[in-house]
Amino acid sequence: MIGHSGVSTHDVGDGRHDSNRIVRDVTVVEVGPRDGLQNEANSVPTAAKVAFVDALSDAGLPIVEVTSFVHPKLVPQLADAAEVMAAIHRSPGVRYPVLVPNEQGLARALGADVDAIALFTAASEAFASANVAATIDETFERFAPVVAHAATRNIWIRGYISVSFGCPYSGAVSASAVAAVAERLLALGCDEICLADTIGVATSRDVQHTLSAMQQIVPIQRLALHFHDTSGNALRNVEAGLDYGVRIFDSAAGGLGGCPFAPGAPGNLATEDLIAMLDGAGLRTGVAVEGLTRAVAILAPYLTAPRFANA
Ligand code: MG
Repeated sequence: MIGHSGVSTHDVGDGRHDSNRIVRDVTVVEVGPRDGLQNEANSVPTAAKVAFVDALSDAGLPIVEVTSFVHPKLVPQLADAAEVMAAIHRSPGVRYPVLVPNEQGLARALGADVDAIALFTAASEAFASANVAATIDETFERFAPVVAHAATRNIWIRGYISVSFGCPYSGAVSASAVAAVAERLLALGCDEICLADTIGVATSRDVQHTLSAMQQIVPIQRLALHFHDTSGNALRNVEAGLDYGVRIFDSAAGGLGGCPFAPGAPGNLATEDLIAMLDGAGLRTGVAVEGLTRAVAILAPYLTAPRFANA
């Protein structure tokens, strides 16, 4: 499946900002510290989060999404966002984005000296309403001042589109709806667009269909895919993305995260599974599996998910 797209496998995407000149064919974006831990019931001590983030950058991950500056009342698991940002070792060449929902969140993030942020909206009105109590239009109203302010600080910006492949409230999501939101995020000034399968329902056919709708909208080197393994399809979906020329994929060490809409189901695609698949396909990531094992072991005392219990 992989590699017959004719897309060359030299370094594209975010590998280019590396100062250490590691050649990467695929950029793996580690979202465990944010997307993973915000969905875990157990709270993890700040020091363990910091050690986890540092172990992930030591493992060779070029981008580690550290935390979220959503209001602490909404995501109490990440209420220590500023403390975590202050304590991590910022490895040269590694990008450390944080989630920012609005101007107040950006102010807190700037206070923590962040240099990359992620905004999040949705492909369905039902999910936007449930997740951020706003219409899609209103999320863009919130983003405008955030992006204007971030631009004055030269801050890198990712735009997430939740439920790009299916919504827990309204069901199927059309590729044209995703494309319309992606176009608005690019016009707003996002550096990268990430299509998220928030509830893990995408099939490889869905991925092909949605990516074909993106072709005239988002330059392929600025497009990322975020899959959950809820239905066991995540790696096949990554292959479908690779076939289309996508070279940026999200994952979470240990498969952290679960799925809030499917209790007990697997969460984010596990970084170790993604790296093993890419290694097997001869695609370089710069990530060492042994380093990931060390990172997962740091959280083992605090989490009960199977991979952590055994770590
Ligand atoms: Mg996720």
